[in-house]
Amino acid sequence: MNRIELTCNPFIKSALKNRYPQLAVFIVMLIGYIFAILAGLIGTPVGSHNFSIVFVWIAWWAILILVAVPFFGRGWCAVCPIPLPGEWLQRGAVLAPPEKKPTWLNLRVPKVFRNIWLQNISFLLLALFSSVLLTTPNITGIVLAAMLFAAIGLSTIFERRAFCRYLCPVGGFIGLYSQTAPIELRIKDKQVCVKCEGKPCYNGSSAGYGCPWDVFPGGLTKNTYCGLCMECIRTCPHDNIAVNLRPFSADLARPSTRMDEAFKAFIMLGSAMIYAGVLLGPWGALKDAAYNVGSSAWFIYAAVFLAIIFGVLPGLFTVAVYLPIAFAPRNHVTTRSKSLRQRFAQFSNSLIPLGLMFWVAFSLSFVLTNASYILGALSDPLGLGWNLFGTANAAWQPMLTSILAPAQTLALVGGLIWSARTAQKAANEVKVSPTPVILYCFIATSLMLWLLL
Ligand code: SF4
Ligand code: SF4
Ligand code: SF4
Repeated sequence: MNRIELTCNPFIKSALKNRYPQLAVFIVMLIGYIFAILAGLIGTPVGSHNFSIVFVWIAWWAILILVAVPFFGRGWCAVCPIPLPGEWLQRGAVLAPPEKKPTWLNLRVPKVFRNIWLQNISFLLLALFSSVLLTTPNITGIVLAAMLFAAIGLSTIFERRAFCRYLCPVGGFIGLYSQTAPIELRIKDKQVCVKCEGKPCYNGSSAGYGCPWDVFPGGLTKNTYCGLCMECIRTCPHDNIAVNLRPFSADLARPSTRMDEAFKAFIMLGSAMIYAGVLLGPWGALKDAAYNVGSSAWFIYAAVFLAIIFGVLPGLFTVAVYLPIAFAPRNHVTTRSKSLRQRFAQFSNSLIPLGLMFWVAFSLSFVLTNASYILGALSDPLGLGWNLFGTANAAWQPMLTSILAPAQTLALVGGLIWSARTAQKAANEVKVSPTPVILYCFIATSLMLWLLL
């Protein structure tokens, strides 16, 4: 399947160019986000009856991981409220660029931070405290508020969206998995960009802002760092930007060689497996260790968590990548022309579909088991005894239990096949065997199946 340009449709194009539809969604999202903070801070401490827990960690999470990321990539970032107040402050405007820009520091983020290591760390911090975060409303409220204020603070110091690009714990994994989505924003004709004066898509113009994600759209080859904000559609004077429908995982044909991105794949894969064990597994001692933050058992849990993510998983993967090189003939030029480090990063791309499907399978359990809380929290979001829509007393019951196991199995097996195909393509490029990497994916999938079913 080749690409289909969605922006050929005049209705879609004008809806994307116009700032008002996006603003309307932004405002609804921002109100919901601020309400989630307040609910977390002043609502009932019972997580299953508090809007912040139920709507953030069940409803939003379900939409994000089961729909938004697999089908729209960074689509969530296009309507996410977190960077808005900071961005409005930085721009001195809510809609189109103002005549006179405010004078913030507008510094460039130091080079040492221009990667996703900080996002990896921020995600790991949330992951290590997740058992408390997912069940305690005031901790959720504090974390949501901290993200909002961090985004505001960074917008007043650094240019563009420094928080989204380098710090947001959610943005890191959305970017990684957005490479598999069947949607992309790209230029239509490279030559037009070469001749374009002033590059307003990056530098901004009276029609709109320069790319808030610090990306030059003319050089985009993958979805990872394009936040789908649509500014470049508004600023490009040559109508050279398109939003396309494309085959799934098209970006993975061009593997990354960055270690920060490679480790993001391991962090996500390992976290899904550990969460499945902690939240859905039958091991009481493991659960206790994860929930008792600060206890000696928790420190052991945290150490094992990090050892799995930074030691066991990448260590075994290194072996899987090294084996075909070790057994290649001495004169096999292609095999020996790249370092093990490059190969490691390149093949870690195969773990992207696998990790995404691990999260889909895990989230199906988590979400279907807890979705019935949504009705109650809708009618009584703060747990104060309200009954706004007559659903406050809806009984808890797991949903669609009969299809859960088959759906999870389908997701995991589908992820394995998808990853195996990605590994095969990467191996074909360098003419080595993909078998050890596929075996690695098979063992990880078997383990996840055992944890979930
Ligand atoms: S990177 Fe994070 S804060 Fe920024 S738009 Fe995406 S989810 Fe929101
Ligand atoms: S403004 Fe349009 S034509 Fe010019 S560099 Fe950007 S995308 Fe290319
Ligand atoms: S300006 Fe264009 S390239 Fe930059 S984040 Fe927005 S949509 Fe993506």
